[in-house]
Amino acid sequence: MSDMIASAQPDDTTHALTPERLGEAKALLRYETSIVAEVERLRAEAAKVRASGIREAAAFVDNDDICGCGGCDTCQPRKMAADLRRMAEEIAPSRIPLVVSRFDVAMEPAPEEPPVLTIGAVAEDGTPVALLLDLETRAKVGGWLAPAAVEYGIAVTDAESSAAVVTNTTSVRAEAVRSLAHVRTGYPTARLVYRTVGAWTETTS
Ligand SMILES: [Zn+2]
Repeated sequence: MSDMIASAQPDDTTHALTPERLGEAKALLRYETSIVAEVERLRAEAAKVRASGIREAAAFVDNDDICGCGGCDTCQPRKMAADLRRMAEEIAPSRIPLVVSRFDVAMEPAPEEPPVLTIGAVAEDGTPVALLLDLETRAKVGGWLAPAAVEYGIAVTDAESSAAVVTNTTSVRAEAVRSLAHVRTGYPTARLVYRTVGAWTETTS
């Protein structure tokens, strides 16, 4: 009985994972990983070359005519150039940001459509760009683009809590300056402060 168990043991001498074998396996794995990485790098390189050829073709057929009919001798090649550029982007996305320097048109959505404003623009390389802005984004962007309203106030430091309290708020600077002179008679350290205030915007609840 004990002889049978002994003969069923695996042959340790040929399959044992010795430190040398483990080292060999790790080295092989590293080698394989580096080959895979190299293949990936070459593939990306080839895609870049192909995309750059397509971008050259796009530049060759493109023109900077501003006609928007869509079907004439200048509109058609421009459309073709845009298609080629899209194709190049699919093959190898350009990491360089697309510089959009020409505003084209802003399209309000129809009442039955989702409230998304479309801003049509043209990139420096001629690629047409459509920027879609929903209500919330429009409010944010609007806040940056439109000059914000300024609110002035008089900051006085509360003697007990030593916290600054702002009083006499107004949007008129001259008024705030007048208030300051008045408040300073009682609080010599009162100072003029201001903050920017954005418009109220309705948002989804
Ligand atoms: Zn045209």
